[in-house]
Amino acid sequence: MTEATEGRVAMVTGASRGLGRAMAVRLAADGHAVIVNYASNSAAADEVVAEITGAGGRAVAIKADVSDPGEVDRLFAEAEEALGPVGILVNNAGITRDSLLLRMTVEDFDTVIATNLRSAFLCTKAALRGMIRARWGRVINITSVAGISGNVGQANYSASKAGMIGFTKAVAKEVGSRGITVNAVAPGFIATDLTDQLSEEVKESAVDVITMGRFGTPDEVAPLVAFLASDAASYITGQVIAVDGGVAL
Ligand code: NAP
Repeated sequence: MTEATEGRVAMVTGASRGLGRAMAVRLAADGHAVIVNYASNSAAADEVVAEITGAGGRAVAIKADVSDPGEVDRLFAEAEEALGPVGILVNNAGITRDSLLLRMTVEDFDTVIATNLRSAFLCTKAALRGMIRARWGRVINITSVAGISGNVGQANYSASKAGMIGFTKAVAKEVGSRGITVNAVAPGFIATDLTDQLSEEVKESAVDVITMGRFGTPDEVAPLVAFLASDAASYITGQVIAVDGGVAL
């Protein structure tokens, strides 16, 4: 348990797998009721809900494409009906469509920006009204070291993640006086389905730039998210915190 005062409603977008799954499980262990959002993988989302409820927590899976305004409206309506207003929002859903810039299509660019960045705008906007009413809220945006340093073959992804950082800082300034904090977490290379797509060669050269000499695990990122979501983090806002085993030193 992070704090005795916990027990809010947390929404984690893209919580059926990878980092989002670990965050959902961890927030539930801290006493929060959790909305497990996902795009298409119902079986995986149901497994996350079963893990949380099996441990005595509360969770509901809701399928919604968070890049779509209508779907986000429905997601928040269903979430509020199921568990109440969202107090903790983790904008985690994200995808890659890697290729060198000269080969990158407009669709590759737009899809990544919409899924990674527009989704954060849509979900944060939907969550803010309730947070302002409650005079308490936590928005945690999952960016990436790629958004700080850039990555070959990831112009679209890096731009979306850098955009999330600017978004984090701007919204933090807009809502700070309302008791709402907005922060970004920047993971480095974490072992999930997303990094599984990388070639062995890219994985090996990635390890060369990681001070800790290995990829991280989702369980090494989730505790920071849980801390930022807690009352203990009430005076931290507008920050970008890397969890990368020492890539961005
Ligand atoms: P992952 O294992 O590929 O999981 C992606 C999750 O996002 C899945 O739950 C997926 O749902 C969901 N999703 C995808 N598109 C969606 C949409 N349009 N609407 C709703 N949900 C959607 O990815 P991950 O590695 O855990 O990454 C999670 C976040 O961390 C991403 O934002 C990623 O950019 C960021 N990140 C990851 C790393 C890393 O090394 N892994 C590093 C830095 C940052 P389905 O299961 O239904 O497909």
